[in-house]
Amino acid sequence: MSLLVLKFGGTSVADLDRIRNAARHVKREADAGHAVAVVVSAMAGATNQLVALVEEAWGYKAAKQNGGSELSAQYDCREYDAVVASGEQVTSGLLALVLQSMGVKARSWQGWQIPLHTDDAHRAARITGLAVDELKTRMLDGEVAVIAGFQGIAPGNRISTLGRGGSDTSAVALAAALSADRCDVYTDVDGVYTTDPRLVPKAHRLDRISYEEMLEMASQGAKVLQTRSVELAMQRSVRVLVRSSFDPPDLGGRTAEADGTGLGTLVCHEDEIVEQNVVSGIAYARDEAKVTLLKVADKPGVAAQVFGSLATANINVDMIVQNVSEAGYTDLTFTVQSADLDRALEVLRKAKDKIGYADLRGSTDIAKVSAIGVGMRSHAGVAAQMFSALAEKGINIEAISTSEIKISVLIDAAYAELAVRTLHSLFGLDSR
Ligand code: ADP
Ligand code: ASP
Ligand code: MG
Repeated sequence: MSLLVLKFGGTSVADLDRIRNAARHVKREADAGHAVAVVVSAMAGATNQLVALVEEAWGYKAAKQNGGSELSAQYDCREYDAVVASGEQVTSGLLALVLQSMGVKARSWQGWQIPLHTDDAHRAARITGLAVDELKTRMLDGEVAVIAGFQGIAPGNRISTLGRGGSDTSAVALAAALSADRCDVYTDVDGVYTTDPRLVPKAHRLDRISYEEMLEMASQGAKVLQTRSVELAMQRSVRVLVRSSFDPPDLGGRTAEADGTGLGTLVCHEDEIVEQNVVSGIAYARDEAKVTLLKVADKPGVAAQVFGSLATANINVDMIVQNVSEAGYTDLTFTVQSADLDRALEVLRKAKDKIGYADLRGSTDIAKVSAIGVGMRSHAGVAAQMFSALAEKGINIEAISTSEIKISVLIDAAYAELAVRTLHSLFGLDSR
């Protein structure tokens, strides 16, 4: 008998038929004698609708459309969480009901009932504690625990959410706390591909991918797993199997290795992977925005002032480029999530006197494309190859950032697809 955590994403619980299908996968594992916890997302599209309602209630969208900027983009994030967390409450109850109707013992759990504690960074809270004793006792007693993903409870007993895509993190955190044998992430693709298979049909599925590479893939835009979930899986050595909820619940007679490979992609430690390409995957992100501060004073403390103000507002900054322009001045360009652009501009406008700059610009017409692979550690020249291939296609690079196993470039959004396809072929990833 194993202890398993199964997670079903939005498309996998999009309607009652899909929920019934998910329930059959759960029942298969429960019937095999495993102790099972299931983490569910909201029904596909539900979270987006709730976010739109929040913005409409606050009147921010209307104010923006009318050209008025007097209303702040900074609404009360605690109320955002109260609204947006509700999508998962619905699916957890529905899946528990469907399981019961199939004769499987099950009950739903909201974040606050477990409890899954978080910090108070509402909208993108971090998990600070997870009590699983009662949950585990009931699971070992044959009751399936159906958990509302994405949500927890913050100090002051307020509902919190873990950031978009956060159900993955709920699932991995739960698997770690339960010392589960595996965390199966059921989604609408049958594993992790060399790049987004919806964009590049020649992409192929990886049997295994290392935590390090998956972390870079996720943080550079491959939304198949939320970045934090991979971070946590790596720290706690949780074996994550990304697989498809569209596989027939009886698995159509398919057999898998003991570790689940064959059914999906196993995210695991690097030393468990035998064959390695120099580049394992290409990721792209279109949800970043570029902010440029023109003519910033070239003196100590300015960057600290800019990025300090953004950090205080819980806005994450990704790529940063600083160019020396006219004597004594620099231009500062950086990227933030598009969803944070209005707030970032507002924060910087308010801090204008403290920072001191001539002009402030924001743009969302950009894309970030990244090549990722642990093989880069021991191979020189990957960056040069990448830049010349892009140049041959006439693609201009606006910013570059690198890590030991990743090279990212910021380009015009119109060229995103072309860049991804070009790099996918360049590094020998096209399926033959
Ligand atoms: P869920 O609702 O199950 O959480 P997501 O939409 O968050 O699913 O993530 C799955 C999607 O991730 C896929 O439909 C696919 O388009 C996209 N994706 C992006 N990059 C990759 C990749 N390298 N491998 C697999 N899927 C990817
Ligand atoms: N429902 C949430 C979202 O759409 C969380 C998740 O699906 O993981 O972001
Ligand atoms: Mg997701």
